[in-house]
Amino acid sequence: MQPVIDIHIHIMPLHMIKPPALELIKRGRKNFAEIERYSSEPKAFLSLLDGLGVERAGLINYVSPDVIGFTPEVNDWIVKYCSVAPDRLLAFGSVLPGTVSDPGKEVDRIVKLGIRGFKLHPPHQLITPNSYRNGNRELAAVYARAQANGLPVMIHTGTSIFPGARNVHAQPILCDDVSVDYPDLTIILAHGGRPLWMNEAFFLVRRHKNMYMDISGIPPRNLLEYFPRIEDIADKVLWGTDWPGPGVPEIEANLKTFRSLPIREDAKRKILYDNAARLFPLRR
Ligand SMILES: [Zn+2]
Repeated sequence: MQPVIDIHIHIMPLHMIKPPALELIKRGRKNFAEIERYSSEPKAFLSLLDGLGVERAGLINYVSPDVIGFTPEVNDWIVKYCSVAPDRLLAFGSVLPGTVSDPGKEVDRIVKLGIRGFKLHPPHQLITPNSYRNGNRELAAVYARAQANGLPVMIHTGTSIFPGARNVHAQPILCDDVSVDYPDLTIILAHGGRPLWMNEAFFLVRRHKNMYMDISGIPPRNLLEYFPRIEDIADKVLWGTDWPGPGVPEIEANLKTFRSLPIREDAKRKILYDNAARLFPLRR
């Protein structure tokens, strides 16, 4: 069976999450106790991945003190979690301007610590991706240090229904500036702008050499409706599920539906594995 890299899974410090946000995650998730176990036992989570044929997973974490409850300590938490198998578990972390004294330096610190990908979550962090153009110098420092460190930056695009999320920051087109100003920065538009702005994401991925997207959070059965020309950008699309986010089916069902879609086999292989393997090479 073709190996898989799921670049967008939420293994997070559940103890930090504010009650209304946790309620939304729990709702409709009969197996929440299992999710609690996976979130505290990396070895149990690795055996789940083994059973599903998932070779590697990007574990998404970000600082969001006001909306979700995550403090800058998420970075240290996820690196420690991933240290059991750093080649298979890719730690994603973040630096939010205003929460540390020197955000540029903090980027350097988390890279040294073992963070493999950077996550910006504008609607949960209440930050506009291109606000460095209006004076947010700390955000400019974050992008500059991420670019200098070769740290890929995943930016959430598309709506969020978490209490307190502000979707005005969630439009993919706001990331156009970032690729113009930081052309060597690898950017992954999470969720391809779903469900409102897929055309913007498709345009940006084609326009910018280092702009990619993941298809997490998009029900695979709707994927071709959302991205009818996905084969045209097959070199720039990454597989992800967003599990166990609200409304996301189990990883296995997601994979099965994706594999059954009428998409060329070589495009499926690139999306499921090759593109992510290239962006996140093994460290030997
Ligand atoms: Zn997510």
